Amino acid sequence: MTDNENENALRTNINAVKTIVHTVKSTLGPNGRDKMMVDAGGNAIVTNDGATILRELDVAHPGAKMIIECAHTQESLCYDGTTSTVVLAGQLLTNSESLLNRGLHPNLVCKGYNEAAHMATEYLKETLSRNASDETLTAVAKTAITGKTLDSATETVSRLCVEAVKKAGDAEKVRVLSLPGGSLRDSYLFNGAIVNKDYAIEHEVEMECDMLLVNMGLEPEKTEQNVQVQLDMKGYSAFKSSDRENMLEQAKNLTKHLPKGGVVFVRDGASDHVCAYLKKHNIAVVRRLPESTMKALSSTLGLSIAQMPSDVECAAKGKIHKQRHYDVDYIFVEGMVDSDQSTLVLRGATTTTLDEIERGFDDALGVVSLVMNGDGVVAGGGSTYASMASYLRSQAATVEGRAQMAIEAFAEALEIIPATIAENGGQDPLDCILSLRHAIQDGSLDMGPDLENEGIVSMNELGVVEPCSLVRQAILSATEVTTAILKIDDVIAKRGA
Ligand code: ADP
Ligand code: MG
Repeated sequence: MTDNENENALRTNINAVKTIVHTVKSTLGPNGRDKMMVDAGGNAIVTNDGATILRELDVAHPGAKMIIECAHTQESLCYDGTTSTVVLAGQLLTNSESLLNRGLHPNLVCKGYNEAAHMATEYLKETLSRNASDETLTAVAKTAITGKTLDSATETVSRLCVEAVKKAGDAEKVRVLSLPGGSLRDSYLFNGAIVNKDYAIEHEVEMECDMLLVNMGLEPEKTEQNVQVQLDMKGYSAFKSSDRENMLEQAKNLTKHLPKGGVVFVRDGASDHVCAYLKKHNIAVVRRLPESTMKALSSTLGLSIAQMPSDVECAAKGKIHKQRHYDVDYIFVEGMVDSDQSTLVLRGATTTTLDEIERGFDDALGVVSLVMNGDGVVAGGGSTYASMASYLRSQAATVEGRAQMAIEAFAEALEIIPATIAENGGQDPLDCILSLRHAIQDGSLDMGPDLENEGIVSMNELGVVEPCSLVRQAILSATEVTTAILKIDDVIAKRGA
């Protein structure tokens, strides 16, 4: 393979990445536009979320796939900042092109980029990051939600997010349920678990009653393999009735623990005759619950899940009520014990908008839990990227040789974040960058594009803050994928030699 062909391989990769970046770039920031994605069946989703767009894209190019993978890493580690990562990676690659044109070897570019990423993230941690107060937690949530919804209720729902994570201790433990109807302002935190099922047989259950959790079904066990048995009629009826007897025996066990009636939640199915028998004893059955719901119920009620009906040791008291939303029944369960279980109930006009709001909440819950578990916060709006760029420029000369050029190119690439946020807000990106550089020179490190008025504004005063690790990880992931793509050319060059 000739040098020229290697060059082609690299350029094709860079072009593929540019196409992906172009798709998501216009969604960055609170004024980013949404994308409507439609599949062959005509199903549409409307989203502004970089990770979701990239997940749904039908991409075949291996270079472009690497960028998508990098966005997934960002999402799984930091919950948010996926668009920023992709946009930054795209700009790093674009800038590397001009370095290659000027004769720099890709390895040298990689070396310079890695050095720059190290310097920038150190500066971020040491100088730009600060400890978070309680008030900042709400601001962090609000920054993550802005852009996902135009609703003015963001302040209220950001507080809900913080309350939910504080109660659960971790974003992963917060359950979110979206109920169509109403507006975002009607969203609330329910101190308990919500089950989207109805009772197996219609039943009037008392508001306050005893409950049981059983990890298997109340129906005859299915044989595991395909077993063939030949029975005559007598044998068959004996077999059936023994099965029934057995199940009723199990059900009797439950009635012993619920003498005044109550509700049994079971993981698997429950046959109708068992449910009917239990109903006679004033016991309602909720069947086929997912494991996560069983766990949520267990933590709400402070009750362990019995493996089988015969293992049940005791029942727990709780409050229960049923609500119907758009033809779907929901059972709300509250416990009498102090538990960390809560469910965030999101309200919104349509399922499509609710899905997008839910994605915003996922991001917000995630970033709040990052900060609550010890992460520092930095000013948002791309201000940190601009400050790091200025710092890198001031430090570039300390590095010897041509790697210096790569550090300068890296610094310039960082500025794409505030520039794009400004551009998507209808402002001139160049003016914004020049004003930011000027402000940084004067010592204001938290300025970002002012999307309400023109010009720039202090992001800390505006309450636009984000977790430090979000920015740190975005830089590290973007650098890693860029250098990986630049190196692909090297591998080809060596093999062909
Ligand atoms: P990402 O997928 O990277 O999180 P978003 O579309 O969510 O992309 O945009 C996030 C960026 O928007 C962050 O840099 C954040 O600081 C910035 N941002 C959020 N709210 C504002 C605001 N009011 N003014 C300026 N920038 C903002
Ligand atoms: Mg975001």
